Amino acid sequence: MAKTAIQSIRATEVLDSRGNPTVAVEVKTEGGACGRAMVPSGASTGKYEAYEKRDGDSGRYLGKGRISEVKAVEGEIATALLGMPAENQKEIDSLLCALDGTPNKSRLGAGAILGVSMAVARAAAAANGVELWEYLSADAKKRLPVPMMNILNGGAHADNPLDVQEFMIVPSGAASFSEGLRIGTEIYHTLKTLLRERGLSTGVGDEGGFAPEISSSEEALDLLVEAIHAAGYSEQTVKISLDIAASEWVTEDGYRLPKRGTHFTSEALAKRIEGLCQAYPILSVEDPLGEDDFKGFRMITAALDGKLVVGDDLFVTNTERLKEGIKACAANAILIKLNQIGTVSETQRVMELASKNGYAYIVSHRSGETEDTFIADFAVAMGAPLIKAGAPCRSERVAKYNRLLLIEKALGTGALYGL
Ligand code: PGA
Ligand code: ZN
Repeated sequence: MAKTAIQSIRATEVLDSRGNPTVAVEVKTEGGACGRAMVPSGASTGKYEAYEKRDGDSGRYLGKGRISEVKAVEGEIATALLGMPAENQKEIDSLLCALDGTPNKSRLGAGAILGVSMAVARAAAAANGVELWEYLSADAKKRLPVPMMNILNGGAHADNPLDVQEFMIVPSGAASFSEGLRIGTEIYHTLKTLLRERGLSTGVGDEGGFAPEISSSEEALDLLVEAIHAAGYSEQTVKISLDIAASEWVTEDGYRLPKRGTHFTSEALAKRIEGLCQAYPILSVEDPLGEDDFKGFRMITAALDGKLVVGDDLFVTNTERLKEGIKACAANAILIKLNQIGTVSETQRVMELASKNGYAYIVSHRSGETEDTFIADFAVAMGAPLIKAGAPCRSERVAKYNRLLLIEKALGTGALYGL
C-alpha cells in the first residue's frame, strides 16, 4: 500500500472560542504522517451557508453538541476514504459531497465534511514533508496577506449598542506583513488608552476588538481615526474597513437596526453607507446590504468607485452565488470562509473564479474560532491580498497572525505584501 494512503480517520468533539462544541479531525496515513484540523463557527451566518449540524439534544451543551458529526466522520466517511491517497484532495472532496448527497451538506454536516477535507490536506502536506502553505500553493510568487484587524466590535459579536458589526484597521501601506501587524497592534493599544481616558469599557467582543458602550458609527470611526493618528500613522498607511453585516438587519419591508431600531429602505441604507465611506478613509465595506439584495449591492458598488464592496453573506463562498453576483455587477470582492461551502477544493474553485473575474478575495476567520491556523497557510498558498483574523487579542485570533509571522520568516525577502 502507498505510504500516503489514508489509514485512519478519527474525530473528537472539542470547544470553540465561545465555548460551543465543534469538530476536530485527525487523519493518519500508512507512512505515519498525521494531519489535524478544527472547524470554526459563525454567529452572523448567511442563510445560504453549508449546514452546521448540531445534535439538538438539550441534555448536552444546550443542544449544541456535535456528536452526530463525530459519528459521521468515524463511520460513513472513514469507510469511504480509507486507502485513498491523501493527495487526491479534489477526488476526496467530490466523494465527500457525493456521500452527503444534499446541496448544503446537511445530511452528514458541514463540520464533519470540512474537518476531514482540511485534515486530509494537512496529512498530505506532512506525508510530503512540506508545510501546508507550500503544499497548497497555486503560485510560485508568494504573497503575505494584509491583515484586516477588527478592533471595534458590534452587531452580533458584542452586547454593546453598536449596530455595525466590525470596524477594522488595515495597514496596507506597511512595507511587510510583520510591520503591518506591528502598526495595527500599536493602534489597538492606543485605542485602548483612548477608550480608558473617556471612561469607556475596554472589554472585548468575540473577535478580540473592544466593545465600548457607544452607539453611533461616526463615533466609532472618529475613535479609529484618532487612534491611527495618536499612534503616529496616517490614512495613507492605515485604512479602515467596515463589515456592516446587513443581512442581520433585514425585515419584511427593508432594514431595521436591531439595537437602535432605525428603519431604512434599501436605497436609504445604501446612501447612508456611501456617506460613511466618503467621509472616512475607507478601503472596503462588507455586506452593506442583505444577502438577497443584489440590486442594492449593484447600486452601492457603482457609487463607491475605487473602494472594495465585499460579499460575505451575499456569496457564502459559493461558486453559483458568485456567478450570479458577477452577472449582476453586485460587488468587486468576495469574503472566503471554508466552512461556508464545506471543502477545501470548492473553496479553491470559488477563489479561482473570483480571480478570473477581477474580484479581490479576502480569506476570513469566523467569530467562533479555534487554535487551528489553517487559514493563515491557506491565504498564503492562494495569494490572498487580505486576511480577516480579528484583533491582535485572544489567542485564537493571534494564532493566525503568529503563524503568518513564521511563514514570512520562512519566505525571507521573497514575499510580496501590499495591495
Ligand atoms: P461570523 O462573522 O463568523 O459571525 O459570521 C464574521 C463576518 O460576518 O465576517
Ligand atoms: Zn461578514
